[in-house]
Amino acid sequence: MKLMTGNEYVESLREYNPDIQVKGKKVTSVADEPLFKPGINAIAVTYELAHQKKHQDIMLATLADGTRVNRLNALDYSADDLLKKLEMTRLICKWTGCGQRYLMHDALSALAEITAMMDAEKKTDYHAVFNDYLTHVQRFDLTCGTAVTDAKGDRSKRPHEQADRDLYVRVTEKNEKGIIVSGAKANITGAPYVHEFIVLPTRAMKKEDVDYAVSFAVPVDAPGLKMIAKPAGRPGDSEAPFSSNFGQSTALVIFNNVFIPWDKVFLCGEWEYTGKLAEAFANHHRHSCIGARAGLGDMIIGASALMSEYNGLPPVEVPHIRRNMGELIRITEGFYATGVAASVYGRKTVAGNVVPDSVQSNIGKLMLAEQVYDIFRIAHEISGGIVVTAPTPEDISVEESGELIERYLVGKHGTTANERINMARLLEDLTASKEGGFYSVISLHGGGSPEAMRMSAVRNYDLESQKVHILEKLKCFAKVEGTCKDCVTCVNDEPCEETCD
Ligand SMILES: Cc1cc2nc3c(=O)[nH]c(=O)nc-3n(C[C@H](O)[C@H](O)[C@H](O)COP(=O)(O)OP(=O)(O)OC[C@H]3O[C@@H](n4cnc5c(N)ncnc54)[C@H](O)[C@@H]3O)c2cc1C
Repeated sequence: MKLMTGNEYVESLREYNPDIQVKGKKVTSVADEPLFKPGINAIAVTYELAHQKKHQDIMLATLADGTRVNRLNALDYSADDLLKKLEMTRLICKWTGCGQRYLMHDALSALAEITAMMDAEKKTDYHAVFNDYLTHVQRFDLTCGTAVTDAKGDRSKRPHEQADRDLYVRVTEKNEKGIIVSGAKANITGAPYVHEFIVLPTRAMKKEDVDYAVSFAVPVDAPGLKMIAKPAGRPGDSEAPFSSNFGQSTALVIFNNVFIPWDKVFLCGEWEYTGKLAEAFANHHRHSCIGARAGLGDMIIGASALMSEYNGLPPVEVPHIRRNMGELIRITEGFYATGVAASVYGRKTVAGNVVPDSVQSNIGKLMLAEQVYDIFRIAHEISGGIVVTAPTPEDISVEESGELIERYLVGKHGTTANERINMARLLEDLTASKEGGFYSVISLHGGGSPEAMRMSAVRNYDLESQKVHILEKLKCFAKVEGTCKDCVTCVNDEPCEETCD
């Protein structure tokens, strides 16, 4: 099994020749495209961390035969694995803002379960195809983009009801060698600089949508596959200390009669399993998002504390700053704790891998989706207006204005204006810039809209047992009125006739 370094990953991109357009121009070399550099850097970190001894316990997973692979390319077999995956996404995102590659872990985990389920129930052979694919990504230490969200068109209509039949990815032809697919997937993270895509259905399909019930893997440069991509982060922006180095591209990925051989097809026509597959992916992915956004929270907590110090207000001593720091920590550790709970209460699947508890992972993702806006607001309150008004590096580099800036924008005695301005710029980059807006929207919608999480949480929550409990209790209360006092504090599940009468 290979464990690439960051540089080897960048070089490996030269072996692919994908059809990509960014800002109206065709990309000739992904590895050398400056507009993708922050995104490539972020994924390179996922390779580099796996080589650092102090991080290998969480960055590497050990397979049954004893070989070690990047945990992002491995399945989870225990609560401990889920906890390590959570810590891994937090670590990666604390470095990069968004490490992007964890989507593939979540897609592989979902496919492991649902292909095994289909084989058991429908006598298909998808699980062996999946296992071969898993070995393939592990052997070459690949990064796969995960393409779930279709273009979708009119949201009130199902796939087969759309005016344009290709608004969801569909199978247009099947032959003995494989299938041909057309359609589009939107908002796909990291698409330009991954090796392959794993394609999953975005929703539960009905019988009429059978052509849209499809899941497969495909190299990024397959004939007929085109991407219209956005730059990653804020490349080349002198006011972006973080996102000129680390960022995330997304792309509209279009399939125009793309051939997929059968040995890369994980589901084709089994429409009854599409909802299960979409939900399994969402469950793993929302769990990963919890770790990812905790990493972003860590960065904002550190930067806010330093900003307050540079302002001359020690964050632990000044009461309202301390309260606000406490809020930042409460939010970040609060949603992270649901990720821990989801790991501890996970369940084993028919494939033998473990999935996080779906109520906890959905609730955690919902919490971070909504509370990321509070994190940004509190960081702004702690830091002051300089977050958006700090002079540009170009003005600082002019001698006369540089001196004025150093004189008038200084904060705490013993620190320089430059230190204060650098911290303000970092906070602007993470919370109040175009990139800051990106982090809000990815937190809100990445992994599904908040409503999707509420629906999943309610669907998977054991409402029935809560209702039964209340009805049983009411029966007890009715019986004991004025008679048996013990019954009120009784903890038997069933109403206890003997005691009450
Ligand atoms: C930065 C970023 C990165 C992403 N990366 C990936 C990725 O790598 N892979 C991937 O597959 N996806 C990715 N996504 C997509 C993400 O999963 C979707 O954005 C999310 O599922 C919401 O879908 P949508 O954007 O199409 O919004 P919509 O579905 O259009 O949602 C907009 C609103 O409409 C509501 N709505 C939608 N449909 C209905 C309906 N039928 N009835 C009632 N209300 C409805 C929603 O609840 C929401 O309030 C990414 C998104 C972002 C923002």
